[in-house]
Amino acid sequence: MAVQFRLFPGLNRLTWRQLFLACVLLSGLLMYLLRLRQPASIRAAFWSNRASEQGPSHSHTPSHTSWGAPLVWGGSEASQRQRVEFSQRSFRVGLMVLAVGRYVHYLSRFLQSAEQHFLTGTPVNYYILTDNPNKLVPPPELGEGRDLRVVPVTEIPGWEHLARRRMDLLASTIDNQAQQEVDYVFCADVDQEFLNPVGTEILGKLVASLHPEYYDVPVPNLPYERSSESRACVLDEEGDHYYTSELYGGLCSEVLALTKVCSQLILQDRAMGVEAQRLEESYLNRYLVDKRPTRVLSPEYSWWDSPVAPKVPQKRVVSLGRQCASLRSHGKSSMFC
Ligand code: UDP
Ligand code: MN
Repeated sequence: MAVQFRLFPGLNRLTWRQLFLACVLLSGLLMYLLRLRQPASIRAAFWSNRASEQGPSHSHTPSHTSWGAPLVWGGSEASQRQRVEFSQRSFRVGLMVLAVGRYVHYLSRFLQSAEQHFLTGTPVNYYILTDNPNKLVPPPELGEGRDLRVVPVTEIPGWEHLARRRMDLLASTIDNQAQQEVDYVFCADVDQEFLNPVGTEILGKLVASLHPEYYDVPVPNLPYERSSESRACVLDEEGDHYYTSELYGGLCSEVLALTKVCSQLILQDRAMGVEAQRLEESYLNRYLVDKRPTRVLSPEYSWWDSPVAPKVPQKRVVSLGRQCASLRSHGKSSMFC
């Protein structure tokens, strides 16, 4: 059956079928254009959200990365399941920090807050690499099953020198001591504070924490090292997420491999007079592009107050040093800085 459209003289005769097809095509086009306007459609390329736990006042909290690794939010059901599972197992965890020169003053706050929130009820060895072991005399009071290992290191003036040596120091401490004593090991910056519980939901083979300031940034804009002269260089077509060097860990064998490789890359660059812009964080990210983490910690586990940090359900670990840097760059100050 045909119908005559006298209102539109240009259109002569259309069949009902042609009219129906035109409507379907038009609505398809409209839906496509509307989707393009949604920021979530950009994120969907990075995240998979098989079990969304998103709250209205928080940023989205995807449960998996695009390669299927769990993305950890402490309050999720998946985290609760892992805590229950690990409560049946027997294992020990190492927490390793460097406290050299003026950074020694962060140590007591770090340890006190870790005793309150880091893997409470779990056996933990703290490995403190320091040039000032006297700061730990008398040793701080620790909970049951928790031990302190002081690893003396010689003073290395200047952060630049330390940044080149830190991975090497961590690798040799894991190699010589930690791997004989613990199953998992986490490397942390000492200028951090634990504010809320960090439990066994963080344990995995190779674990990295998302950098809060690049949580929602598209891959091409991530601050990877781009100079092809550096061994940390990440090409435009590579990468998934940008991780912070404030907290990473995993099985001893995995963290030993990571710190050894990063240390080698740093030394190879140094021999050529090259240094990646973000120092060891650049090398860490290069490594994690090649070897993706099996468990990714959300910015709940590495957070600091910054205009571009996402809202998180709970701030569990805060970087005091980076928070001060961020506040300073925005002309603000806080009591601690
Ligand atoms: N660090 C140290 N003494 C120094 C500089 C650095 O012990 O003089 C250690 C300390 O654990 C610190 C970490 O190396 O947290 C990384 O340094 P920083 O926190 O300044 O680096 P950023 O977080 O800015 O990358
Ligand atoms: Mn730091």
